[in-house]
Amino acid sequence: MRFLFLGPPGAGKGTQAKIISEKLKIKMISTGDLLRENVKKGTELGKLAERYMKSGKLVPDDIMLTLIEREVKVLNSFILDGFPRTINQAKGLDDMLAKLNKEIQRVFYFMISDSEIIRRLSSRRVCPECNRNYNILFKPPQEDEICDVCKVKLFIREDDKEEVIKKRIEIFKENTFPLVEYYEKRGILFKINAGKEPEKVTEEILNTIKL
Ligand code: AMP
Repeated sequence: MRFLFLGPPGAGKGTQAKIISEKLKIKMISTGDLLRENVKKGTELGKLAERYMKSGKLVPDDIMLTLIEREVKVLNSFILDGFPRTINQAKGLDDMLAKLNKEIQRVFYFMISDSEIIRRLSSRRVCPECNRNYNILFKPPQEDEICDVCKVKLFIREDDKEEVIKKRIEIFKENTFPLVEYYEKRGILFKINAGKEPEKVTEEILNTIKL
């Protein structure tokens, strides 16, 4: 099984990728998480990527393709969360998979309004230790602003500040949205109503996988 989760920031792709990967026992690859790990560890790649990420811009395609190739070439099944984000990345991924005699089977497009994105992302909080995501509106931690598991103070991602969120939405529309048509033409795109409660979204994805 090789799936892509496509959609604007804040649509719940990461949350759903985690749930579905656990349910179906297939690995999820989140390029956002991989990049943040590199930034945290201070690797060369992390240093390169950090300035783009802080301002909500896309990390250049060549860096992203190198990063993703290491992951997909050793896996038969995976869910990609947050990659590809440009037509160039999608073509690079197609070439990479073709060499391995593989292809993407389903693309899930998470549809959600801009106002809901801003509402969700500006209330997101993250644990600096385990990367768990909370939301002060819908999924608050038991203790105010403290991770339930690690007991450390949660933080707001630099790119979850309102101005940066707006920039990320703009970048999504300009660079990533064309991928909807790219995969639609291939007949592998499935539209998901991502504005619903997470359990309902999971159900919709699982039902689509069974089709
Ligand atoms: P995310 O956690 O998926 O919202 O990603 C956070 C940030 O990482 C994005 O705003 C980009 O700066 C960078 N990033 C993640 N995935 C990609 C990608 N496929 N292409 C370019 N930049 C990316």
